[in-house]
Amino acid sequence: MRVACPRCGGRISRNLSPNPSEFPLFRGLMWDMVFSAFAAPECYRCGKIPMVEFSQSARLKLRLASAAVIGIAVALAIGLWKLMR
Ligand SMILES: [Zn+2]
Repeated sequence: MRVACPRCGGRISRNLSPNPSEFPLFRGLMWDMVFSAFAAPECYRCGKIPMVEFSQSARLKLRLASAAVIGIAVALAIGLWKLMR
């Protein structure tokens, strides 16, 4: 599910994790997923793009992607929690 930049049509990234090296691997991964789901999209050329600049369908796609990421993160957490009991 790729959403193009509304300004230049370039690639959008949401990989804005603060400092993954500060976290142990698993927690870092979870934090990364959740954080990038909520972070503002960022264009490689234009920098951060506010959500309002995206078209309605693009915003819907971004929200769906966020929901999917959070769903996967929760499923992973529950799976690991059950494994460790
Ligand atoms: Zn751009």
